[in-house]
Amino acid sequence: MNLDNLFSAAQEAFLFYKNLSGKEKGAFLETLAETLEAHRSEIVPLAVQESNLPEGRINGELGRTTGQIRLFANLVKEGSWVEATIDPAMPDRTPLPRADIRRFLTPLGPVVVFGASNFPLAFSTAGGDTISALAAGCPVIYKAHPAHPQTSKKVADCIHEAILKCGLPSALFTHVEGGIAEGQALVKHPMAKAVAFTGSHVGGMALFNLANQREEPIPVYAEMGSVNPIFCFPNKLDKENDALAKAFIASLTLGVGQFCTNPGLIFVPEKQAKAFETAIVAELKDIAAAPMLHPGIAQAYYDSIQFLESREELRWVKVSDPKHLINGSTALAEIKASDWLKDKLFQKEVFGAFAMMVVYQSEEELLEIAKHLHGQLTITIWADAEELQNQLFLLNLLEEKCGRLLFKGVPTGVEVGYAMQHGGPFPSTTAPNSTSVGAHAIKRFARPIAFQDMPQDLLPDALKDNNVLDIWRMVNGKWEK
Ligand code: NAP
Repeated sequence: MNLDNLFSAAQEAFLFYKNLSGKEKGAFLETLAETLEAHRSEIVPLAVQESNLPEGRINGELGRTTGQIRLFANLVKEGSWVEATIDPAMPDRTPLPRADIRRFLTPLGPVVVFGASNFPLAFSTAGGDTISALAAGCPVIYKAHPAHPQTSKKVADCIHEAILKCGLPSALFTHVEGGIAEGQALVKHPMAKAVAFTGSHVGGMALFNLANQREEPIPVYAEMGSVNPIFCFPNKLDKENDALAKAFIASLTLGVGQFCTNPGLIFVPEKQAKAFETAIVAELKDIAAAPMLHPGIAQAYYDSIQFLESREELRWVKVSDPKHLINGSTALAEIKASDWLKDKLFQKEVFGAFAMMVVYQSEEELLEIAKHLHGQLTITIWADAEELQNQLFLLNLLEEKCGRLLFKGVPTGVEVGYAMQHGGPFPSTTAPNSTSVGAHAIKRFARPIAFQDMPQDLLPDALKDNNVLDIWRMVNGKWEK
């Protein structure tokens, strides 16, 4: 693989593709969604075989993937995402005239995407990162995840089939197989303009550091997971103990706990802790161990549990059973908030169905917890309406610590929509001002450019006076069509 040739071809494809209209880019994405659906019967068995995930889940994930592609198709066909902003000239302004300034978002260029092991379709080859980059106008160089190589290759073939059907340059998408060295070489290449990643903290930070050591540093959008705490309040638990225990265990064990929004931490008031624990243990009785994504992830899960088992601050409510090293079995430990506060290692993600129940004694202690909490993708609050009224200070603190604050339900199940935020302060991501799910994900792959006194006929359509694209634009500080 000659990387210079690969990136030069991607750059050439970029210079052609970026100038296509939103309608043309949207039509390509729609063709891709149709192509993936046409190959469903080949893709699904491969992904099931390579991920150990059940067929129903993989079928659903393919639906999520094509739904996501169509969301971005609609977004670029509508066109207002480019945030066109126009300050017309004021030649008569005193003491100085104002120039005509027009700004919008333009794509970055070729970008490198690393797929995730836990979503072989929706966060992989044609997943959210690849699609939001293509929607923005960027060619993608995709580093395949070694946990599902055949699925990745099949989906890459579908992307090329759609490229061919639409008469686009094939270097719009490149599928790269290999290991850590190959992935790092892509990030280091001078023609790469950004990196998107979903996976471990170690992997994400390695790529982030590499990108910042380049002669030209580039943005790295690394989503590195989190422990997604749930804050429980006394009245809510008194009223809904069993239902909340059921919801918590269902979320914790969904997909053998292999979700970045898995609730790995739950804060419970001391008075309610015993009843909640009893309900949880009852729920856990029927949950059997199930195969994890691959042996490496299962090994990492049991290594983390083994380390925690050596900590005397923890009391084990349910111990793991590492008999079959591919199977993940649920584990649950309890700790006093005063002990939890003393060591930040208790905030580290254990990827799998493990949770720590932290028992707190007072609202003051809860505030201390909120102050010490690391950045999270999500934080969930289980409180009744009256209890919430008195917690404005806590809510204010928690807003600073997460990308999505929930007041109902559980953090697993990330809706793909226009308003979704899937990101958060470090260490959950390296870019808290971005999302890797939902329509706003497109902005990671674009940058603002302003044109000053550019002749009308040379301006991009989005910025011409006559608004030929019929998009929302801010003109002189007011939104209009
Ligand atoms: P990973 O080890 O971070 O790997 C993800 C991708 O990044 C792979 O393609 C891998 O390359 C590459 N990579 C990792 N470290 C790298 C480095 N130092 N330099 C260059 N490339 C690197 O994630 P994983 O294999 O999916 O799972 C391992 C752990 O990640 C899990 O146990 C879990 O803790 C975490 N995880 C988190 C999430 C999340 O949602 N945030 C999702 C899945 C997993 P190779 O092809 O060489 O492996």
